[in-house]
Amino acid sequence: MPLYQGAKQHMSQSFKYDYRSDTVTQPCDGMRTAMMNAPVGDDVFGDDPSVKRLEAIAAEMLSKDTAMFVPSGTQSNLTALMAHCGRGEEYISGANAHCYLWEAGGAAVLGSIQPCPIPNEADGTIPLEKIKAAIKPDDPHMAMTKLLALENTIAGQPLTIDYMKAATDTARDHNLNTHLDGARGFNAAAALKQDISAVAAPFDTISICLSKGLGAPVGSVLVGEKELIERARRVRKMLGGGMRQAGILAAAGLYALEHNINRLQDDHLHAKRLGDAFTKHDQIELVSCHTNIVIINPVAEISDAFMKHLNSNGVGTVGFYGNVRLVTHLDVDESAINATIDIVDRFFS
Ligand SMILES: *Cc1c(COP(=O)(O)O)cnc(C)c1O
Repeated sequence: MPLYQGAKQHMSQSFKYDYRSDTVTQPCDGMRTAMMNAPVGDDVFGDDPSVKRLEAIAAEMLSKDTAMFVPSGTQSNLTALMAHCGRGEEYISGANAHCYLWEAGGAAVLGSIQPCPIPNEADGTIPLEKIKAAIKPDDPHMAMTKLLALENTIAGQPLTIDYMKAATDTARDHNLNTHLDGARGFNAAAALKQDISAVAAPFDTISICLSKGLGAPVGSVLVGEKELIERARRVRKMLGGGMRQAGILAAAGLYALEHNINRLQDDHLHAKRLGDAFTKHDQIELVSCHTNIVIINPVAEISDAFMKHLNSNGVGTVGFYGNVRLVTHLDVDESAINATIDIVDRFFS
């Protein structure tokens, strides 16, 4: 399998047990009711009470000045990168980071910002010496390094608070700003048994996806220092992300923050059960299973037949750097996990 196998081939299919991503969830009745009843206004004029409430609550939960509601995690990261870095400046990230690898090169294309990707270690970290070595001196030959961007969780692995502190201290020692792509930051917090504010604390800005494990249909929040978020707001308008009666969408995000955080632990338990089920079979290597993402590598001899077996039994997965990824979420309950484990076991019996 090619290293950078994309997700495209997996589109337009429907699966009974859909583990392709935690983005495939359906909004529940309570969320839909909250959306229907949301008070709204023109958010570009700052009139939307539901958006304002979501932004205030997100800022409070993360113990930061302020927040901005955006349509997607991609736009959230891009507005952050463009708030931190100008034309001809540079950001450092992991080579596997979503903002570098999976966002169509937006920072370079739209922000004229040079990426400096550093290979991630197996545990998702970037070694501090490598961060230090990548920071450019003040030399007119070179782009000006402005930002360190980390991601947590990364490929389902949580980075520890200690690591994030050490990495951001290193960045600050060199006058860099810091951004966290916390698309699955609440999964990290749950796995680390920390409050989300502790995950956010080391960073100037943090992006959180409401449409991943939290189950909203749309939306992310970018949270951070007032001055940076104001700059990001201008970029959001430039990118076409200024939305009008966006409270309809923000209401789903508010519902998600209220109802769907504590239950992330269930997703982690479900992932663990799947992981344990895979390890029973010698021909499947369990590559990673820390939060809600299970990564496996079936041996070459069974790989095609096994994937076909999963698919034809309604189990949806995606390829992931040459491995296979399964993501648990609020639309796979315990009985779905049991059924999936049965399907896996049946292949080997
Ligand atoms: C999904 C994801 C994003 C982007 O979110 P979209 O809403 O799909 O644009 C950014 N970073 C990470 C780590 C993600 O998993």
